[in-house]
Amino acid sequence: MNSIARQWIAGRSSSMAKLLPLILLSTVMLGQGTKITPPKNKYTLAEDVKVGQEAAAQVRREMPILPEDGEVDRYVERVGQRLVAAISPDFNHSEFKYEFSVVNASDINAFALPGGPMFVNRGMIEAAHSEGEMAGVMAHELSHVALRHGTAQATKSESAGIQLGALGGAILGAIIGGNVGDVVAQGSQIGLGTYMLKFSREYETDADVLGAQIMARAGYDPRDLGNMFKTIEAQGGSGGPQWMSDHPNPGNRYERINQEAAKLTIATDRRNGEQEFAQAQSTLKRMAPAPTMAEIAKSTKPTTTKTPTGDTPVSGKPEIPSSSYRTFDGGRFRVSIPNNWKDFADTDSATFAPQGAYGTFQGQSVFTHGAIAGVSSVSSNDLAKVSEQYVAGVIHGNAYLQASGKALSAKLGGKNALKRTLTGTSPVTGQVEAVDIYTSLIGDRQLFYLVQVVPSAEKKTYTKAFAQMLTSTSFSK
Ligand SMILES: [Zn+2]
Repeated sequence: MNSIARQWIAGRSSSMAKLLPLILLSTVMLGQGTKITPPKNKYTLAEDVKVGQEAAAQVRREMPILPEDGEVDRYVERVGQRLVAAISPDFNHSEFKYEFSVVNASDINAFALPGGPMFVNRGMIEAAHSEGEMAGVMAHELSHVALRHGTAQATKSESAGIQLGALGGAILGAIIGGNVGDVVAQGSQIGLGTYMLKFSREYETDADVLGAQIMARAGYDPRDLGNMFKTIEAQGGSGGPQWMSDHPNPGNRYERINQEAAKLTIATDRRNGEQEFAQAQSTLKRMAPAPTMAEIAKSTKPTTTKTPTGDTPVSGKPEIPSSSYRTFDGGRFRVSIPNNWKDFADTDSATFAPQGAYGTFQGQSVFTHGAIAGVSSVSSNDLAKVSEQYVAGVIHGNAYLQASGKALSAKLGGKNALKRTLTGTSPVTGQVEAVDIYTSLIGDRQLFYLVQVVPSAEKKTYTKAFAQMLTSTSFSK
């Protein structure tokens, strides 16, 4: 619209003024399909990116992701970038960081986060009959991102602030100080459903239409987008796959896509990826079968795991740490903790805190003094990168915290580690809280984390206990 209007004004000054607009108009319309207007949005592009990155970090921590340098991931990334390059300039925000990951889950699902990160389930790739079908779902998801439907939805809501938080954050568990617990546990239901917004039918139609346009510009047959929806529906089983409930059929979806397809000219540089697609599928077939999301939820430890239970109010005045220690054996790690601290252990992590430092606050389990240690699956062996993702998840779950300074080198159990310090005023104690996060890779894409929490004013009292935890940490092979 903008470019047409500008051309029109420019055209007026020329001698062919009256003809120009019509010619331009038809050029623009021909083959490019229905003009889409993005919904109203009060957020900045940077906010889209921020929420999306934080949510993506959480997803990467909690879900099994195929290796970034693996054949299938690289293939999906190539298809994704081809589609990104085909987003029309009106909607292509250069601030966005499009990246594509494959989740090792059998359910037919895919989702994209504001600002660019996209996750395609292995089950979706296996269910598709062609690269075009797989690309179709990706183009649809990409359209939600490009049209900024996540933050637009938040804009629509009266309590937009909450919505925006919920968008990136409902699954983003909280960890420390503020709110340990149930939120995290629910999040790990990998309820992407829980936090992925169910888009309105109007948004769905727009994503279908823009998706079809992206397909055509990328050299795919846009009808494959409609075909993929048929494929998804056919394999839905009872209740249909999650994807369908996150992206409700706006009605006549298939027909609408084909109608749009009829208006589109497919790029002359037609994509023929069938061989690569077949190869990716056969690679997936050779792998052990993917678990279902439900199985993943059962086996994935939320970042914090088992919550200190009971309705004990947080007194905020716990005993000072005992100077004698006991060893906690977490299976893959061991650590000494003061004798007078309790441990709340789960399979891969544990929370340690003295009486009076944990309890319930505004319906959530919290602790104010103590530590969490655990192991989490991460997407790569780049310590700086995965540590940053971990820290971003902590901050997202505990919005009052802020990182100060850069990551510092440290040692944990003889391994290289990074230390990051966060501070902020705890809503529980009303005092400034200091949070030190240590992270270290202890195996292939296995991140060990130790998070120490204490009100800044009491930090000295905890220096010895925290130091003892660090020097005593060891890992099993
Ligand atoms: Zn959708």
